[in-house]
Amino acid sequence: MELAIEQAKLAQKNDEVPIGAVIVSGSNVVSSAHNISNDPTAHAEMLAIKQACELLSTSTLCDAEMYVTLEPCPMCAQAISFARIKRLYFGAYNPKGGGIENGAKIFQFCSHIPEVYGGILETECSFLLKDFFEKLRRCLENI
Ligand SMILES: [Zn+2]
Repeated sequence: MELAIEQAKLAQKNDEVPIGAVIVSGSNVVSSAHNISNDPTAHAEMLAIKQACELLSTSTLCDAEMYVTLEPCPMCAQAISFARIKRLYFGAYNPKGGGIENGAKIFQFCSHIPEVYGGILETECSFLLKDFFEKLRRCLENI
């Protein structure tokens, strides 16, 4: 999760929403990514899955674990299921946009359901997002 937080901080440096994701297979980190603006599908989880599949030349990541700093949205939750990721660890809960513990609760409709562990380093993960959006709000108020 600390590597995912580093990815989130990289996004923040580029003025992008600080969300990071890392995929681990065995004891190897196979991909790491952060959100990219100007593409609504370029969430950290989607990019990390794509990179891992390219690296391992596969469409399924059955032995892999994903660490992501925020509860995945419904799109990413579905992609995590399609990729057959074994375990999912996420940091902050996302009552507005999450799709696992909140909102659509996508996994209830999926044939592959990973083991899910939420709230990992939650305080640090949610602080990054709160800090980013508070600064953004202050910028917008000054326009
Ligand atoms: Zn997403």
